[in-house]
Amino acid sequence: MSSQNVNPIVRSGNGAKAKHQGLRVIPLGGLHEIGKNTCVFEYGDELMLVDAGLAFPSDGMHGVNVVMPDTSYLRENQKRIRGMVVTHGHEDHIGGIPHHLKNFNIPIIYGPRLAMSMLQGKMEEAGVTDRTTIQTVGPRDVVHVGQHFKVEFIRNTHSMADSFTLAITTPVGVVIFTGDFKFDHTPVDGEAFDLQRLAHYGEQGVLCLFSDSTNAEIPGFTPPERAVFPNLDRHISQAEGRVIITTFASSIHRVSMILELAMKNGRKVGLLGRSMLNVIAKARELGYMRAPDDLFVPIKQIRDLPDRETLLLMTGSQGEPLAALSRISRGEHPQVQVKSTDTIIFSASPIPGNTISVVNTIDRLMMMGAKVVYGKGEGIHVSGHGCQEDHKLMLALAKPKFFVPVHGEHRMLVCHSKTAQSMGIPADHILIIDNGDVVELTPDTINKGEPVKAGIELLDASRNGIVDARVLKERQQLAEDGVITLLAVITTDGVMAAPPRVNLRGVVTAADARKLSVWAEREITWVLENRWNQLARNTGGKAPDVDWVGVQREVEVGLQRRLRRELQVDPLIICLVQPAPAGTPAYKGRADAEPDTRPAPRGGRRDGGGRQPAAVPQRQLVTAAPAPVAAASKAPVEEPEPTGRVRRRRSAAAAG
Ligand SMILES: [Zn+2]
Ligand SMILES: [Zn+2]
Repeated sequence: MSSQNVNPIVRSGNGAKAKHQGLRVIPLGGLHEIGKNTCVFEYGDELMLVDAGLAFPSDGMHGVNVVMPDTSYLRENQKRIRGMVVTHGHEDHIGGIPHHLKNFNIPIIYGPRLAMSMLQGKMEEAGVTDRTTIQTVGPRDVVHVGQHFKVEFIRNTHSMADSFTLAITTPVGVVIFTGDFKFDHTPVDGEAFDLQRLAHYGEQGVLCLFSDSTNAEIPGFTPPERAVFPNLDRHISQAEGRVIITTFASSIHRVSMILELAMKNGRKVGLLGRSMLNVIAKARELGYMRAPDDLFVPIKQIRDLPDRETLLLMTGSQGEPLAALSRISRGEHPQVQVKSTDTIIFSASPIPGNTISVVNTIDRLMMMGAKVVYGKGEGIHVSGHGCQEDHKLMLALAKPKFFVPVHGEHRMLVCHSKTAQSMGIPADHILIIDNGDVVELTPDTINKGEPVKAGIELLDASRNGIVDARVLKERQQLAEDGVITLLAVITTDGVMAAPPRVNLRGVVTAADARKLSVWAEREITWVLENRWNQLARNTGGKAPDVDWVGVQREVEVGLQRRLRRELQVDPLIICLVQPAPAGTPAYKGRADAEPDTRPAPRGGRRDGGGRQPAAVPQRQLVTAAPAPVAAASKAPVEEPEPTGRVRRRRSAAAAG
């Protein structure tokens, strides 16, 4: 591709205005994190998606099942989406697709057979099969997406079978998008990395390389997948009783080896966990995994076999609370209980963030008397991602002009950029970017453009409901500080007609219920005194039109601030108001009985949309009666509560 390839479609297309020259590459997820890889390629008025993954929630995301990238940008530009290409079938690359299809159509999705078969199942579950067309591809297949993207699928090696690196030819040049990879020269399935094809593109000239940074901090090459075989073999053959192995269901090669080892050691296999059953069924059906039918025994019959002839393969390598091994470790599994003769093998390493749940699971299993094999020293796990020497080989083969490290946390991206510099790529030819950043490429330049909206969308268990920031905050408050409900009875002319009822759930506080009731009364009184004029609109003669939600909100905010200030607790506060007819006799509060010790002036404390606190309400002036001197003089000038209450009550009484 040469520089006279000027953007030819800016004036053509379907009417959409192209604002930018050159190629724009916009990752919406997968940067400064491991997960939810989602990338947009954009040229003129055409968009192409590369992968769309999901991530799993971190601690504190209560009730969140999966984490999606914010796709406002795609929704806004959905008319320009021409299609999608998929590198491989891991959840962090395809898990987001069914969700996105609920929001916008994708005309066509090209991807490897195994990934597309897994995607098909997910789309059926989500009911979105009519929103796109799926087209499977094989090694060296070339597809065209829109008028401006030509994509060749180059076979690579990774922990998942049927994985690809992409060579994307655009009007400004060729971009190599590595996908997840390591260089495994003795792959379990015999499908070698197509180095020749990669070198071919390198020879012709690669404009930019986007490369997997997962293991950028680790020196050396990642060992081949086969390296774990003898170590697993040793542990399985030495086991006196049952063997229980956990790994990622999607690590097709690892699972293949475990099945092979079961056969070799004369053990039948029982499978536990939905994803384990699904993935193995799909992989066997498509020929990515070879194992005779009679190797498998349904879990209900497995207890009839001698322990020495049993191997259980299950999910739970990440300590996920609902996965099979985690339930077994808590003694909660209906079919499997741990025996002291069991050998339990963790053939996976914890993803950062899961470490604590994994070690807790290991502890529980050990306490039940089982022999647990885990950790780096045992040689029972290797990564599916390349380390520094793999990265160097990729850079050497692709020989890119520009370089963008992707698929990694920030320090990994920085490390990867140093590796690239050590290979002679100038620092100003490398961009370290964040989700939503725009990489603008021309044949001679790389720049960061104006970013687009990026962030996260949190989905609940239904995978439909979005848990927004407010809901998440409320759940965190509930979990950490409990909830206080407060029922207030207020007349339509702004008088408290009954003592507020305060209820605490999960709240630990030094204050007793009576004190909280008094505080609640003060807040209600303050709002009635200072906010009523704004919250109640006089409709002329009849009862005023009251913004009850506004009243509730004001009381909640006020009480919350007081609790934070005085008790250093931050429970969720729910105020419910029961309106009473005008003229209902006022309740004589307890708040008067206690001197108010509040130190700070109240003026301007509310965040009610920039409204200023009212001066003394007019009604008060009209009906003002002498307040009890003691209460009035004790309160600071800005604290109108005690006097206000008395005046208001009298005014209400007078009105009635
Ligand atoms: Zn992967
Ligand atoms: Zn990945």
